[in-house]
Amino acid sequence: MAPLDLYEVRGLLSDEERMVQDTVARFVSARVLPIIRECFEQHRFPRELVPEIAALGLLGSSIKEFGCAGLNGVSYGLICQELERGDSAIRSFVSVQSSLCMHPIHVFGSDEQRARFLPGMARGELIGCFGLTEPHGGSDPANMKTHARRRGGDWVLNGAKMWITNGSIADVAVVWAQTDEGIRGFLIERGMRGFTATEIEHKFSLRASVTAALYLEDVVVPQAGVLPGVVGLKGPLACLTQARYGITWGVIGAAQACLAELLEYTRSRELFGRPLAQNQAVQIRLADMARRITTAQLLSLQLGRLKDQGAMTPTQVSLAKWNNCRAALDIARDCRDLLGGAGISAEYGPIRHMLNLESVITYEGTQTIHQLAVGRELTGINAF
Ligand SMILES: Cc1cc2nc3c(=O)[nH]c(=O)nc-3n(C[C@H](O)[C@H](O)[C@H](O)COP(=O)(O)OP(=O)(O)OC[C@H]3O[C@@H](n4cnc5c(N)ncnc54)[C@H](O)[C@@H]3O)c2cc1C
Repeated sequence: MAPLDLYEVRGLLSDEERMVQDTVARFVSARVLPIIRECFEQHRFPRELVPEIAALGLLGSSIKEFGCAGLNGVSYGLICQELERGDSAIRSFVSVQSSLCMHPIHVFGSDEQRARFLPGMARGELIGCFGLTEPHGGSDPANMKTHARRRGGDWVLNGAKMWITNGSIADVAVVWAQTDEGIRGFLIERGMRGFTATEIEHKFSLRASVTAALYLEDVVVPQAGVLPGVVGLKGPLACLTQARYGITWGVIGAAQACLAELLEYTRSRELFGRPLAQNQAVQIRLADMARRITTAQLLSLQLGRLKDQGAMTPTQVSLAKWNNCRAALDIARDCRDLLGGAGISAEYGPIRHMLNLESVITYEGTQTIHQLAVGRELTGINAF
């Protein structure tokens, strides 16, 4: 029995899905794991991996045209899972590029916008970011201060966005702004006058990911730079549903990586004349980790099957994002603890995963926000 897949979830996958998983797993083992510790320590995003990630078809993988791989939702989930086994930063890069930037351009963009951006983004030649969160509070995006006003045939944008993944390396930013007609999406390109992106330094989490603040000061965007297909908060929320779905899978990979390392450690570490793994208290903790991983795997797989049938709902995604992030973070923290003093060393993965997961449980809706979304579904009462 595979210790990281007690319910043989892999047996529920199609041949193609298994192939995708194996391909990404090989890439992560060969190219991510050897460098990720150093990247984390140096606060550096390994940008040199982007062409390889693109060549594997991992960018915009669900899109069927524009040079994208056209894979199903479960395959996208498996991509996220294997990438995050390496590091949440690599998965975050792919999530943002695919679900938060290519997805809105694909579903809400014009033909010209799709043709202009998607092929280059699939090849990794253009990097995208998604600007929704603002400095005064991300949990309440309806209270958006960034605004766009019409001026002749153009729009003029003012405001600021905070905590934006890929922000300072992005060639194109999907920025959401309040207008007289409601919230709209704007494509802001690197170098536009009045637009600046500043990397946020000194993070203790997602150190191998670029996170930035975006500033917009009288940025003039032509009408051709507005996403024509959506007005209102449902635009960004639809993108977040896609990305959160991928997160539910991704964090499983991080949790599996932690447990795998811990299993090895508890077998070889001898205390009180016996391996650590020979203690009931330790086995109970290991068993609990396996239970949480198994539950998360089954939630994500069923969510993916629903997604591929076109039946996945945002509430289901909220429940899985909450459950799986909580499970992964608790597992990473417990693995860190069971490693003892060694657990605080960068020699071992759990503390890096643990620190990363503190961001992952916060971004794209905190646990509280997803609990309130499920509560709203159950009661019919909006408690936000
Ligand atoms: C590393 C990183 C990368 C990110 N990348 C992006 C990105 O690419 N694009 C983007 O737009 N955003 C991004 N974010 C922002 C992220 O989505 C927000 O941080 C998140 O939504 C929370 O918003 P906030 O930080 O403003 O916290 P706040 O909204 O200020 O929340 C603070 C606390 O209050 C709690 N809270 C809020 N409302 C309630 C309530 N009604 N009842 C009880 N408790 C409540 C929250 O759960 C939280 O614990 C990123 C964040 C991080 C850390």
